[in-house]
Amino acid sequence: MTGGFVFSEKPIQIESGEGAYLYGENGTEYLDFGASYAVAALGHSHPAVTEAVQAQIEKLTYVQASYPVEVRTELYQKLAALAPGDIENVWLCNSGTEANEAAMKFARSATGRSKIVATKRGFHGRTLGALAMTWKDKYKKPFEPLAGGIEFVPYGDPAALAEAVDEETAALFLEPVQGEGGIHPASAAYLEHARDVTEDAGAALVFDEIQTGVGRTGDLWACEGVGVEPDILTSAKGIANGLPLGATLVKDWIAEDAGDHGSTFSGGPVVASAANATLDTIVEENIPEHAAHVGEYLQHELDAATEEHDLPVREIRGVGLMIGVQVKRGANRVLKNLALSEQVLALPAGRTVVRLLPPLVVDEDHADQFVDSFVEVLG
Ligand SMILES: *Cc1c(COP(=O)(O)O)cnc(C)c1O
Repeated sequence: MTGGFVFSEKPIQIESGEGAYLYGENGTEYLDFGASYAVAALGHSHPAVTEAVQAQIEKLTYVQASYPVEVRTELYQKLAALAPGDIENVWLCNSGTEANEAAMKFARSATGRSKIVATKRGFHGRTLGALAMTWKDKYKKPFEPLAGGIEFVPYGDPAALAEAVDEETAALFLEPVQGEGGIHPASAAYLEHARDVTEDAGAALVFDEIQTGVGRTGDLWACEGVGVEPDILTSAKGIANGLPLGATLVKDWIAEDAGDHGSTFSGGPVVASAANATLDTIVEENIPEHAAHVGEYLQHELDAATEEHDLPVREIRGVGLMIGVQVKRGANRVLKNLALSEQVLALPAGRTVVRLLPPLVVDEDHADQFVDSFVEVLG
């Protein structure tokens, strides 16, 4: 291995970005309907985030989390205020997988139990704890042994939940909409059932909102859309619009006995300033409602185009701007053709699902552009 990247890169060199677009060498314009794994929630290089980061980096780049600093305190308060229901306590880290590792540790400590229930097709990250709760063998096998005590249940099956979650269970981890597993939204009834069985067993209900959160599904948090409140909610990806931040939000009963946990970079001022600007913009500009509206339009137009052009599509599903298009041929070929012939970027979710996670600020014209390109490639 020489100076290169360990894993495969795409044959597209990116130079800059603005809003829904990325720009390559010699100015080639790419419509980014993956938002780089949902990270560019407000679009690339959002001015509010850029300004906040510039101002902060001139003042102070970093100070350890044990010294209060205004910008981080503001973020704690903001997240506590925006979290569903009475989730008041915030732990900050640098990625989604770390946010889930913390959730596992906190739940085990607070309950004094070790068993964790997770779901088939689920994805929770790639460090050895979160990876153990992730379903796909491809991600796990070469790295075993992973964290123990994980039991998997089929996603969406209430009876299996009732059976698996018992008096030995520390936590049940669920994505309100499975993302990497193929865009599968849970029903409200299933999530309500998850709430009931965890409450009865004294286990923590953890919603992994790393992909579904900060407006993606048309609500600030996907669980708000279905009215179910977890004990722990994890967030990352779009929360700081491109700077690395993860958050584990927990109820008092978890925080009171969370054990000893720490991280050197927890909530650094520059990252915190980006998150404050991102969350303020999402709330002030009512971005979740916009995402709900444009998402509905995009799904409708995709359905109409599929029917009109008889496209090889099995199913279109999702909520807000988290949409999966299950194609009859391999998703990777579709994605490659979209990128190279149409300059449109999106993501896979498994072998047959084209996953759309555009910046939440895209409008109907962007949706039309995507649908036209999709028809070109699949038609
Ligand atoms: C991306 C993702 C993670 C992992 O986040 P990283 O920042 O890549 O560690 C965990 N859970 C879900 C649902 C995700 O989509």
